[in-house]
Amino acid sequence: MAQDPSLEASLERLVLASGITAQVALQDAAEESAAELALLDDPMLAERADDVRSLGRRAAAHAGGVRLDRTGGVLVADSLGPADVAELSGVRGVALARGGVTAHAAIVARSLGLPMVVGVGPELLEVEDGEEVVLDGDASVVVRFPSPARLAQARESIAVRQRARDRAVTHRDEPAITGDGHRVSILGNAASVAEVLEALAQGAEGIGLLRTELLFLDAPSWPPQEQQVRFLTPILAELSGRIATVRLLDFGGDKTPPFLRGTKERGVELMLHAPEALKAQLSAVLEAGSKTRLRILVPLITSPAQVLEVHAALTAVLDGRPRPALGAMIETPDAARRAAEIAKEVDFLSIGTNDLTQMVLGLDREQSKSAPVTDVRVLRLIDMTIRAASDAGIPVDVCGEAASDAVAMPILVGLGAGELSVAAARVGEVRERVRALRFDESEKLAVEALLGQVADAGRERV
Ligand code: PEP
Ligand code: MG
Repeated sequence: MAQDPSLEASLERLVLASGITAQVALQDAAEESAAELALLDDPMLAERADDVRSLGRRAAAHAGGVRLDRTGGVLVADSLGPADVAELSGVRGVALARGGVTAHAAIVARSLGLPMVVGVGPELLEVEDGEEVVLDGDASVVVRFPSPARLAQARESIAVRQRARDRAVTHRDEPAITGDGHRVSILGNAASVAEVLEALAQGAEGIGLLRTELLFLDAPSWPPQEQQVRFLTPILAELSGRIATVRLLDFGGDKTPPFLRGTKERGVELMLHAPEALKAQLSAVLEAGSKTRLRILVPLITSPAQVLEVHAALTAVLDGRPRPALGAMIETPDAARRAAEIAKEVDFLSIGTNDLTQMVLGLDREQSKSAPVTDVRVLRLIDMTIRAASDAGIPVDVCGEAASDAVAMPILVGLGAGELSVAAARVGEVRERVRALRFDESEKLAVEALLGQVADAGRERV
């Protein structure tokens, strides 16, 4: 994207002809190119406008010598991509005028435990530099000019959250078992060493979803094997002897690197069109994860044939090493309907409720304000998937954000999900909530939910 000749040409024009600084020109040129993209009829291409803006902002910050991580307050912006959020540090919260709760920027924030409010509307940008605000991720609001009482309440919430984290760390060795003795395995979702460490500190048994694509969002081509080994080794080194579920690159949608710009495909479909890239990643994962209880997870599976292709590629690169468990993500309605066939070909299933919910209900993943996972149409597909896994005698986990949703989690446990993989920063709170559950009541709740008798969940707080 950065090498786009038309972007370079407008940069040159702005700097040489108009005489503006490189920093401003970078942002203006990116904006011009984003505005053109946004007008395209193809929604997938139009969505890339945000990526170009994100690139322009980051390049401008570098050109101006600005460290994005030095603000120490609430970052207010129109929109941010997942890579922008992953790069933030020292920021205490983020408020976005646009964006949705299941966009990957929000998922990264949640995993880092970074309070974030999205989709506030354009009026958010009226907030002045240095102004005092309360950012309330639970209520999804930004409060301007807060009263002393509101400020005190916000400070109390921060203290409560800190105490909850301390409790999670203290109880990290206690198993997540319901009051009536049903054990649930709690794993973490991560894409960085920091998240792995946080998940483990809060008692995660391992990692249930390592989103490898987030490491390569700026990649100019399919990442070579050596580079992947370099990126994965420090992350997987923390998981020696533990479950490490490495998901194959799930590019597409709001996780599209420059070299795949314009593609409509996502997940495994893209990788199956690039067999060398698939082999490079499988080899890298085998190498970097050799000391872990490695599981390889295939994103956006829609048919058993895709699993078989990945299986063949994996066999081809094993080179005498033991074959890790191979799992399929069930995150499309088609996959859920074919879960029984898919289950026969894999060692485990993992339900991606983020995509599943949005696809079943026809919502826009990057803009949606809610992810109503307890909608019966979604729950029936989840139920079908869990039954398919159980009939095939393989484990099934839920790794979408619903696994940590206060309303959805007990229903998922009641439906029979034996593993939940949740945002790293939420591992402790989910473990605590499992301990407060009774499995017999969760089972009853699940039956009611399948009949549509449970109120909507998933007004996700970020
Ligand atoms: C999902 O879709 O639920 C999921 C876990 O994958 P991602 O959020 O990365 O698309
Ligand atoms: Mg997904």
